[in-house]
Amino acid sequence: MHLSRFAPSPTGRLHLGHAFSAALGHRAARESGGKFLLRIEDLDPTRSRPEFVEGIYEDLGWLGLDWDEPVLVQSRRTDAPHGDAATAYPGTCRALPDDPERRATTPHCWRLDSSKALDRAGLPTWREADGREFTATLDQIGDAILARKDAPASYHLSCVVDDAAAGVNLVVRGCDLRPSTPIQRLSQLLLGLPEPAYLHHKLVTHADGRRLAKRDFAPTLAAMREGGTDGRSLAAEILAGKLPLGFAWSQS
Ligand code: GLU
Repeated sequence: MHLSRFAPSPTGRLHLGHAFSAALGHRAARESGGKFLLRIEDLDPTRSRPEFVEGIYEDLGWLGLDWDEPVLVQSRRTDAPHGDAATAYPGTCRALPDDPERRATTPHCWRLDSSKALDRAGLPTWREADGREFTATLDQIGDAILARKDAPASYHLSCVVDDAAAGVNLVVRGCDLRPSTPIQRLSQLLLGLPEPAYLHHKLVTHADGRRLAKRDFAPTLAAMREGGTDGRSLAAEILAGKLPLGFAWSQS
């Protein structure tokens, strides 16, 4: 039984790549009798906007992708981590030297001490939903930022804490986010959080291979809707591997 989630950042309107990700997670949940959860990753105050949150609800509704449980909005959970997660945290950052000069001139930020973390937890492994097993390599683990003065928890930290809190056991996301998995798995080991399976899916690109990005004026789902596209049919077609004219699949 899969508990999957779609976790968009409300920093722009959704595009076809998001539709694929959400549809895959939704199908995995529905076919296994599990749950499909929606989480709004709005911890970056400079880039998140309320109208994009509304846009996410609108676009998912149009695609016919319903979710279970109330939406988890990360900015409303900034006192996390707590409970079991907090007791398991080994305090890896506690030994940071307190350098007043650096404190005065640079924004505060907490980083993972990756060498201590690896001593404690070892190189993390993860499992893809298709059964392939991976072991992280040393160069994939850095001193990741865990929190900053202007962001109470980094993407890595908030992602693993919120996935665990919601009981997510299948993380569905684009393969462009695969480089995040080693550090997130390490964080799970350090925090004593359960290990989900991962489905890092292929990406949707422009027909010439360019990534769908706001700066490239990627057509949004909103624009497709306004152009008369039927959202439910679109979701079914992407899941069947068919893309509208002008788009292509890419593995990375
Ligand atoms: N919030 C991330 C994004 O919109 C996705 C994070 C994830 O699925 O782990 O790209």
